[in-house]
Amino acid sequence: MALADDLGKDIYTLAPNGTASFDYLIKCKEVTGSGTPIKGNPAVLKRAKKKVITNALLLAMIDVAKRNGELECVQSYWNTWHCQTKLISHKNRYYTDYCKNRWCTTCAGIRKAYILNRYYPTISEWPEPHLLTLTLKAVNAKNLALIIEQMKKCFSRIIDRQRKRNQRSNAFLLKCVKSLECNFNASALTYNPHYHLITPDRRTAVFLRQEWIKELKKVNIEVSELGQHIRKVENTEKDLIEVIKYGAKILSDSDPAHKRKRNKGDMTGLQIYAHALHTIYKAFKGTQLFGSVGFTLSEEEKKTVTGFKTVANYDEWIFQPKVMDWVNTDTGQLLTEFEIDPYLEYILKTQIDKKLC
Ligand SMILES: [Zn+2]
Repeated sequence: MALADDLGKDIYTLAPNGTASFDYLIKCKEVTGSGTPIKGNPAVLKRAKKKVITNALLLAMIDVAKRNGELECVQSYWNTWHCQTKLISHKNRYYTDYCKNRWCTTCAGIRKAYILNRYYPTISEWPEPHLLTLTLKAVNAKNLALIIEQMKKCFSRIIDRQRKRNQRSNAFLLKCVKSLECNFNASALTYNPHYHLITPDRRTAVFLRQEWIKELKKVNIEVSELGQHIRKVENTEKDLIEVIKYGAKILSDSDPAHKRKRNKGDMTGLQIYAHALHTIYKAFKGTQLFGSVGFTLSEEEKKTVTGFKTVANYDEWIFQPKVMDWVNTDTGQLLTEFEIDPYLEYILKTQIDKKLC
């Protein structure tokens, strides 16, 4: 009773002209960015699935990093655990904080879409784009970081040399987009770091392949002619998506020697190799995975949405791992009503491998 009286008194004292005002009861919150549409946006359901996969991977990588005494990594993984945990929704859009780490499947997905939108207009103008894959002999975990450093240096030397030739004698100027990726081979327990590139024409792809082999041989890195692939780009958007996979695949084939042709959604034989992924992310630390060579995009294309705004009468949602969804803190309503595929649940519960490899 005392509480009710106090509350009543507060309302009265707050009203400037003697009439009771309830304006101060309106909840306000400062949010950043332009928000994500909720209703009619299939990406929202996918975000629940991505968060569930990321969380399972994170817990396993946290165990691996703790075992190795790598506390900085443990902290970075926990930061991703809190990525989009709390959502603020207002007028059919939600606002949240993103971790922007490459092991976060949502943040990596946002980054991929951003890169695709930025680069697609330029690449779709190229006369006969080609896809080039540059590889080298697989390495073990111990040598991965070192070999990635050497790959980056070799590639830079090829670019610098051609730039100088261009300045001196009008040799053609190299142009391409490139991304660095690394796969884990679960039967051989080895890592395959490689570059995917899109070049404007076949001549550039052939030139880069030949220089890559020469350059690696110069520094005694094992490389085979057959390991380097060139093919014509048939569908620019599809191939650009292929190039910007962004680092590493989370779900890997447990039997890569017997590669199966998968239908969409088929997850048979897939596993998450947490230790291998932790090794790859450590080796990639400080490395820009996607970049362009020989051209830059205009400032207009680089523009990002920033800025704050205040929203009133918002809803708040918290991600609850057990429910695998964001739950409205007032009403208990579920945001996405995501239902996990039973096979994915089986993988996340039983097929996460934390062994040393
Ligand atoms: Zn994130």
